[in-house]
Amino acid sequence: MPSPIAHSVSGYVLAKFLPQEKLKYYPSRWWSWEIFYPVFVAIFADFDFLPQLITGERFHRGITHTFVFAIAFSLIVSWLISYCRKSCFKQLFFLTLVIYSSHLVLDFFTATSGSGLQLFWPFTDTYLKSAIPFFPSVHHSRGLFDPSHLIFIIWESCYSILVLSVLWFWKNYSSRKLSE
Ligand SMILES: [Zn+2]
Repeated sequence: MPSPIAHSVSGYVLAKFLPQEKLKYYPSRWWSWEIFYPVFVAIFADFDFLPQLITGERFHRGITHTFVFAIAFSLIVSWLISYCRKSCFKQLFFLTLVIYSSHLVLDFFTATSGSGLQLFWPFTDTYLKSAIPFFPSVHHSRGLFDPSHLIFIIWESCYSILVLSVLWFWKNYSSRKLSE
């Protein structure tokens, strides 16, 4: 899987391209929900390392890395937020599902020595991973400060600069179109 760098930047950029005009985010003095919410959804799947840390059982890249979970998560979270905030459920569900799914797609395109992801569980137990990976793997077992981490940090930083530049150009282009 990529690190939270690629996941969170992808979530943030995707949200900027998706319709949000009917959403009411929680106003907060401490952070911007427009940034916090997409980033939280984009990295949520990897919180499955927490039960693994506690129990020692293998949880990581399990059920949270399936499309069924992505749909269930998006339904529950969108319903809760739209109920509390009187926001548009459909728009929030769509935004949440697309961003959550981006995590699965990025993980699918990551080099791994493991067997990949059971993306379509429970319909099939088949593990899937891209034959041509786009992201280098992150070796968590080597600890926090291993020099080999530089590879994924540099690669994901370049990826982040690229997608943020696309967003910047698109924003400039659309604001110029509006002012014409
Ligand atoms: Zn993941």
